[in-house]
Amino acid sequence: MIEIDGITKRYGDTTAVDAVSMTAQTGTITAIVGTSGSGKTTLLRMINRLVEPSKGEVRINGTPTSAIKPHLLRRRIGYAIQGHGLFPHHSVARNIGAVPQLLGWSPDKIRARVDELLDLFSMAPDEFRDRYPSDLSGGQQQRVGVARALASRPDLLLMDEPFGALDPIIRARAQDDLRRIQRALGSTIMLVTHDMEEAIRLADRIAVMDAGKLVQHGPPADIIATPATPFVAEMVGEADRPLRLLSLIPVTEIAEDGAADGPPLPADATLRDALSACLWTGRSALPVVGASPAHVTLDAIRARVGGHG
Ligand code: ADP
Ligand code: MG
Repeated sequence: MIEIDGITKRYGDTTAVDAVSMTAQTGTITAIVGTSGSGKTTLLRMINRLVEPSKGEVRINGTPTSAIKPHLLRRRIGYAIQGHGLFPHHSVARNIGAVPQLLGWSPDKIRARVDELLDLFSMAPDEFRDRYPSDLSGGQQQRVGVARALASRPDLLLMDEPFGALDPIIRARAQDDLRRIQRALGSTIMLVTHDMEEAIRLADRIAVMDAGKLVQHGPPADIIATPATPFVAEMVGEADRPLRLLSLIPVTEIAEDGAADGPPLPADATLRDALSACLWTGRSALPVVGASPAHVTLDAIRARVGGHG
């Protein structure tokens, strides 16, 4: 568990981060969202002590970070930034194995971990472990950067706009990959982004920063349904709110018994998928794939959004 307790950073008259407190449970993704200059990067860098707080404390599984030497702390906390930050003259394997090597892991253990991570990131170890960063595509470099940050099984992975440089299509893939890998490894992640869409896709909890203050912290569905301030509402995008909410609700939640005509929706479809499919096919109900006949209706979708209007 990561506990951020009244943490503040002042630069002269500027309060970059103003008394922020929040807790992140082990094995979850927290997205820190806000506009440029809201203090996201400063908050993240106080967690691994790249920036020393003016006030307040961070505890990792109960231990204050102030009690751990910064260079040791940073071996326990992965850090991935925009642009992968790989060592250009080291192979993929050496890049990924950098921290385990510092920690004194045996060569066999490092090799096994490198291959395990390459597999997880869908990069065949035999093909990729001896390559150099310049022989990789942008998306592959990014994956190696994240694999490196995860190599030593850190207590926490900090990511600062990790996908900011990727084009939108690769970006969506990278987000899906991160979520899959995070679930497989059970990693705890704090990720900074200015993109609310990204936060909604990835996070278990969203923390919204505005002018150094934490203005709302909660599950994506709560942030969308009940934004705490006009600023949060603006971040979420008033117009998109109903659609975003729909994209978080599985179709199975409002499916009714009984058959319907038309192309069936997969069991893992969301209400947003169901709405699109209904509109696209011009039908007021569609079947849902499952053990017993079920269907979803436009009326039920409308009723579900209306409840949050
Ligand atoms: P974000 O990552 O949300 O864009 P930052 O944490 O980088 O925001 O910055 C928050 C505020 O703190 C900004 O006003 C920025 O100018 C200021 N700031 C950040 N780092 C420094 C620094 N080293 N010296 C002075 N001011 C800083
Ligand atoms: Mg920043």
